[in-house]
Amino acid sequence: VNYVDVVIIGGGPAGISTAIWCKRLGLNHLLIEGREELGGQLTKIHNEIIDYPGIKAENGNQLKERFIEHFTNLGCNHLLGIKVLSIDASNKEVTLLQDDKKLKIQYRYLVIATGAGEKQLNIPGEKEMINRGERYSATADRHLFKGKTVAIVGGGDRAFEGAILLAEAGANIYVIHRSKTFKARSQYLHSAMKNENIKMITETHLISINGINSVDSVNLQRNQGEVFTLQVDAVLIRIGIKMNIELVKGIIDIDEDGIIKSNQIGQTSNPSIFAAGDVCTKATHSSISASVGQGAIVAKHLASLMTR
Ligand SMILES: Cc1cc2nc3c(=O)[nH]c(=O)nc-3n(C[C@H](O)[C@H](O)[C@H](O)COP(=O)(O)OP(=O)(O)OC[C@H]3O[C@@H](n4cnc5c(N)ncnc54)[C@H](O)[C@@H]3O)c2cc1C
Repeated sequence: VNYVDVVIIGGGPAGISTAIWCKRLGLNHLLIEGREELGGQLTKIHNEIIDYPGIKAENGNQLKERFIEHFTNLGCNHLLGIKVLSIDASNKEVTLLQDDKKLKIQYRYLVIATGAGEKQLNIPGEKEMINRGERYSATADRHLFKGKTVAIVGGGDRAFEGAILLAEAGANIYVIHRSKTFKARSQYLHSAMKNENIKMITETHLISINGINSVDSVNLQRNQGEVFTLQVDAVLIRIGIKMNIELVKGIIDIDEDGIIKSNQIGQTSNPSIFAAGDVCTKATHSSISASVGQGAIVAKHLASLMTR
């Protein structure tokens, strides 16, 4: 068993910032990232980033390179491609999987910076579609869909923003929504209603995504029971965001929306466990700058605890 004062789980903006501040404040730390590279959701941002003070980036990858360069130049301690499998809060220990072997690391303080991702429908054909790489950004990939038919599942802002962008790029859109009313803001709803390339199918569930080499159709079921098929060239699932909280379920308090409960300094219901970034922030309030700010607060607080 190894020991580290501050173990940080997750190498997105929140984890990177926590590690940078730990390094600067002289704290013994280790950041553990499950994927082969740092950056978290930054790797999924295809749009220009215009809201991060001091740096204007063409896309998330460009900002990610700047973050990694900073992190590496400072010499922050980290492990890549290693997932944290479980947390034993009573022994203050995390279990990791490294080269098929389980490894335990003891911590004094643990920082959860595991972020968030898109919710999935868990229907037949969905995993296959994602594994084939048919996961599109309405902003970056809209040129692919001129004259094509696209199903967008969801009824919120992200669903409608995507529908409008793709319709403007010449695609025929079906917005598929399980209830009768939409949550999206009225400005989006108005433009979608006016756009003849956008059709709404309400009170209907997607029940399967079909196609062998690529998506060719979807099966739908109306709430009253009728099942029918639509020919489509792509499916965009925009049903909301899910925080990555599997590791801490039953260990710390989570609110009714699936967000880690934490106070102003990021402390959770367990005094040795802290949280930063999207995992403890309402999706409508999350951002790169909020995540790095929260990471900095946690590290500064831990430094104050350790020098007492
Ligand atoms: C398409 C898109 C566009 C966006 N545009 C903007 C924008 O323009 N401006 C802006 O401010 N924000 C934007 N955001 C939001 C921003 O990217 C997030 O708020 C930010 O990345 C959150 O950082 P985070 O560190 O909390 O989490 P994440 O970036 O989600 O990183 C979490 C990391 O934890 C890792 N992890 C999870 N579980 C484990 C585990 N068990 N073991 C090890 N590692 C684990 C994950 O692999 C991931 O790398 C956008 C997001 C998306 C998806």
